[in-house]
Amino acid sequence: MTLNNGRPYLAIPGPSVMPDAVLQAMHRAAPNIYEGELIEMMPDLMRDLCRVARTEAHAVIYISNGHGAWEAALANVLAPGDRVLVPATGRFGHGWSEIAARLGAEVEMLDFGKQSPVDPERLEQALRADKSHKTKAVLVTHVDTSTSILNDIAAIRAAMDAAGHPALLMADCIASLACDRFEMDDWGVDVMVAGSQKGLMVPPGLGFVFFNDKAAQVQAGLDRVSSYWDWAPRANPDYFYQFFGGTAPTHHLYGLRAALDMIHAEGLEAVWARHDRLAQAIWAACETWGQGGPLALNVADRTHRSRAVTSLRIGAPHGTELRQWVQDKAGVTLGIGLGMADPDDPAWHGFFRIGHMGHVNAHMVLGMLGVVQAGLTALDIPHGTGALEAATEVIAGA
Ligand SMILES: *Cc1c(COP(=O)(O)O)cnc(C)c1O
Repeated sequence: MTLNNGRPYLAIPGPSVMPDAVLQAMHRAAPNIYEGELIEMMPDLMRDLCRVARTEAHAVIYISNGHGAWEAALANVLAPGDRVLVPATGRFGHGWSEIAARLGAEVEMLDFGKQSPVDPERLEQALRADKSHKTKAVLVTHVDTSTSILNDIAAIRAAMDAAGHPALLMADCIASLACDRFEMDDWGVDVMVAGSQKGLMVPPGLGFVFFNDKAAQVQAGLDRVSSYWDWAPRANPDYFYQFFGGTAPTHHLYGLRAALDMIHAEGLEAVWARHDRLAQAIWAACETWGQGGPLALNVADRTHRSRAVTSLRIGAPHGTELRQWVQDKAGVTLGIGLGMADPDDPAWHGFFRIGHMGHVNAHMVLGMLGVVQAGLTALDIPHGTGALEAATEVIAGA
């Protein structure tokens, strides 16, 4: 018997659940791109986008996914032969570094494995060793979506300052923005990249790059920047089309307007607090299940866990079985394990992830946890008892 008829719930780490208000805002006839509302809404839209990033720096939009935002940011600061230092805590640091390498950069990796955050001391040592200051940028992932590790960006900035190194600090906040606290200006981030389809609750298709004056100076010193990625005309357009290097992503802009309205109506601090509380409920349930079976949170220390996504280990083939069960029987789709094992390796089936970014609330999280427990029971996967009670108590304490 299946119980999955009803509203499906995509609980993967992006694309995230989209609010009806966002979908409704996008459901409209094509707007005029030469005059009127769409053009007039841009200044406020950019201002409200920057408020989510906690920055007064420059911001630009690309019609792209996160990979496009990655490439856009690098294309504006790197020349072939430049060196970048990439402290990686999972798959995504490697992904960004591969794009840097393809742009001709010399990449130095500092790999912290799949279960620990960036160690600022090791980063400081690596930067101190670069006496001629050849390293142009440090590329760090705020939340690694494969491992669910949360990196301490302020501590990384402090390590760069302690080393007296002038490299740009570039942060990937594609998973974390509007879920985990992020303070671009206070934390001294020079360049930040994000996308529309995670904490910002809009369909995939918008890539965002935020950059400060220091990064703008680096860009101005480059011999050339490809015209499409060039952030200068996008940040200071004389004409509307220059915001996007061509036709505007018309409907996405309406969706983003609605999403930013929702975020600021709730209040960014409240959005972070909601994600924190919901994440704690998920952690409480998972830790309890783990007391009587193979389920384990990938990140042991709570202070290093993201509030946008939770990566779990459960042993093969339980991960795949559980994902299939909750999808087929209960209408919830959980995330696959990403980068934890080779897809050809049977061990690949021993991981899964829960996405809890964006438009999620207590009943969605408790419902999702409830069907995971049903799946564990139905599949005879041993698990500790009292997980739902533990999660409920976290919610009750809100
Ligand atoms: C999702 C994600 C990306 C890639 O974004 P795409 O839209 O899939 O290209 C990059 N970095 C992080 C941290 C992400 O979560």
